[in-house]
Amino acid sequence: MAASRLSPEAVDAARRSALIGVAVLVACLFGIATRLPETLAVFWPANALLLGILLRSPRSATPATWSCAALGFVLADAVTGSPLVANLVLTLCNLVGVSAGFALYRFIGQSRPWLERVQSLTLLAVLIVAASTAAGIAGGFANAVLQGQSWEEGATRWFVGEFLNFMSVMPAVLTAPTLSSLRRIRGLREMSARLRRTVPAAALLALGLILVWFVGGAGAITFATPALVVAALMTGVFVTSMFILTTTVWMLILTADGHLGIPGLDPAMPVTLSVSIGLSFLAIAPVAVACVTNERRTALAALRRAVAHDDLTGALRRDEFYRRVQNLTRDWGAGSATIMMMDLDHFKSLNDTHGHSAGDAALERFADDVRSQLRGGHLFARLGGEEFAIYLRDTSDHDAFALADSIRVGQYNRATESLTGHGVTVSIGIATGSDTVENLVVAADRALYDAKRKGRNRIVLARGADEFDWTR
Ligand code: GH3
Ligand code: MG
Ligand code: MG
Repeated sequence: MAASRLSPEAVDAARRSALIGVAVLVACLFGIATRLPETLAVFWPANALLLGILLRSPRSATPATWSCAALGFVLADAVTGSPLVANLVLTLCNLVGVSAGFALYRFIGQSRPWLERVQSLTLLAVLIVAASTAAGIAGGFANAVLQGQSWEEGATRWFVGEFLNFMSVMPAVLTAPTLSSLRRIRGLREMSARLRRTVPAAALLALGLILVWFVGGAGAITFATPALVVAALMTGVFVTSMFILTTTVWMLILTADGHLGIPGLDPAMPVTLSVSIGLSFLAIAPVAVACVTNERRTALAALRRAVAHDDLTGALRRDEFYRRVQNLTRDWGAGSATIMMMDLDHFKSLNDTHGHSAGDAALERFADDVRSQLRGGHLFARLGGEEFAIYLRDTSDHDAFALADSIRVGQYNRATESLTGHGVTVSIGIATGSDTVENLVVAADRALYDAKRKGRNRIVLARGADEFDWTR
C-alpha cells in the first residue's frame, strides 16, 4: 500500500505542537534553575506560557499539543534529576491549572485580540483566578504527599505562586507582536519613533531595578512603579508587559537571595505570600492602565479620522484639505503644485429623478474611482455637495491632465452606462504653478467655471492668464 501523505495543514499542526512542547521544556528548565533546595521554584513561567499560547491560538489546543506540553514538563524534571513520582505529580498539577483556565475560556469565549480593551483584562483575571485555584487545589495534595505540608498551606502557596506567574507572564505572551505586525512597521522613522517613546520608561526601569539592588528592604517592591506607569502611558500593552515580567523576575531573584523583603525569614521560603501578592498587584495595575490608554488612543484615532474625512465618500473634508495643503506647502517649500477642482454635471437632475440615495451612490462611486487613481502624497477632498478637489505636488501639466482625463472618461462611462440619460459627467478645472495655494484655487475654480460654461464634461487648464481647453 502506498504510504499516505500528510496534508500541509497536518504537518503545520504537528510542527506547532512540537514547538509548544519545546517552549514548555525551555520554560521549565528556566523555572528549575530558580528552585531553592527543598522547595518549589521561585519563578515558574511554563504554565503561564502554555496557557498564554493556547489562549492566543485556541486551535493549537489539540491532543498532540497537550501531549507535547506534558512531555516538556516531564522531560525537564527528568533531565535535571527529579524523582519520577515527584515529577509526575507536579506535572499533573501544572496541567490541571492550565487546562482549568483553558476550559473556562472555551466556556466563556472571547473575541480576540487580547488586551486591546480593558474588559479583556477582566476576563483574563477571571481565567487566571480559575487556573490558579485549580492548581492550588491539586498542589495542596501534591505538597502534602511530597513535602508533608498541610493541604491548606500547600494550596495557598500554589494558588498565590501561580497567580503571580500567570499575571506576570501571560500579558506579554498574549500581546507579543506577530511577524506580520512587525513587517507592517513602515520604515526607520516609525521604528525610531516607537523606540523613542520607550526610552523614558526603560531608563526609569533600569534606575528602579538598580536601586532595588543597592537599597533593598521591604519598600523596594515599589521601586519599579514609576517606570511601569510611564510605560503604560507612553508605550503599548506589550512593552509594559515585558517591563512587568522583567521586574517580577528581578524582584523574585533579589528576594530569594535576601536583598529584598524582611530580614530573618525562613531561608527555604524567602518569597513570602505577602511578596507574591504584592508583586501580583504590582503587575495587574500597569496592564490595566496600558489597556485603558490603548483603548483611548484607538478611540482618539477613530475620532480624528471621522473629523478629517467626509462620512459619505471618505474624502477629506474642506477644512482638513486646506490644513494639509498648507502643511505640505510649508514642508516642501517652494515648488510646483497642482489644484484640480471637479464638479459633477447635472447632478440635481439625478437626485430629482431617482432620489437622494441614487445621488449618494453616484458620489461614493465617483470618490472610489478617483481614489483608485491617486498615489500616496496626493490629497483628495469633498469640498461640499458634488464638488471635489485634488492637490498634487511636482506634477507636470501633462501628467495632471492625463489624471484628470482618466477621471473624466471614467465618470463619462458610468454616466452613460448606469446613470442613463442624466449626463452626470464631470467638469474639471486645473491650475498648476508655484503660485500661492490660494491663487491656484482661484485659478482652478475659474477654469472649472469655464468648463461648465463651454458645455460640461470637459477639462480646462488654467496657467496664469492663459487658459487651454481640451475636450474629447
Ligand atoms: P451643474 O452641472 O451646473 O453643476 O449642475 P448641478 O445640478 O450638478 O448643480 P446644482 O448646484 O444645481 O445642484 C447640485 C445638487 O447636488 C443639489 C443638491 O441637492 C445635491 N447634493 C448636494 N449634496 C448632496 C449629497 O450629499 N447627496 C445627494 N444625493 N445630493 C447632494
Ligand atoms: Mg454640479
Ligand atoms: Mg456644484
